[in-house]
Amino acid sequence: MKIIAIGRNYSDHAKELNNPVPAEPVVFMKPDTALLREGRAFVHPDFSNDIHYEVELVVKIAKEGKHIAEKFALNYIDSIGIGIDFTARDLQEKCKQKGLPWEIAKAFDHSAPIGEFIALSEINDLRNIEFSLTKNNEQVQIGNSKDMIFNFEQIISYVSKRFTLKKGDYIFTGTPAGVGKINIGDHFDAFIGTQKLLSLDIK
Ligand code: MG
Repeated sequence: MKIIAIGRNYSDHAKELNNPVPAEPVVFMKPDTALLREGRAFVHPDFSNDIHYEVELVVKIAKEGKHIAEKFALNYIDSIGIGIDFTARDLQEKCKQKGLPWEIAKAFDHSAPIGEFIALSEINDLRNIEFSLTKNNEQVQIGNSKDMIFNFEQIISYVSKRFTLKKGDYIFTGTPAGVGKINIGDHFDAFIGTQKLLSLDIK
């Protein structure tokens, strides 16, 4: 299983970090050891003093595919859920300044918590999925799939031309504005619409 993630896929978030809005998807990966399944706490590591939450819609790959055309892309996913792309912003800034890869800032253990998934058939409109994150019961991020720079089909097609997608892989599809620092003792809940799909403690 692999985790593929898209960066800068919402222009309001690209702007808040002073990044240009990309002309093609910004892609990075996390290993399977990054996954943190629902019900487990995130233990704050000591190598960063500035880990940020980034709430994201996550698609789950249903079958193997490569060179997938956009018009067939939705046949390759069966459900959509929510995840948090934890990012050690202090380390990422250093990597960006030096032009180095992002793995130490993005791909560390448990940097990809995921919650429950909703079957594609239960989602009315893929172009209008509202999702949000609360920190200690206060909303800190809200987004909608209509604001994605690259939509689900474009992402799946683009990624599959480079990396064979396999059943059970996940794609994190980017975060809207409002990212911020996590602290030990924080509690996060993530929602699609009003449905809570992920609940996470920071220890
Ligand atoms: Mg992200």
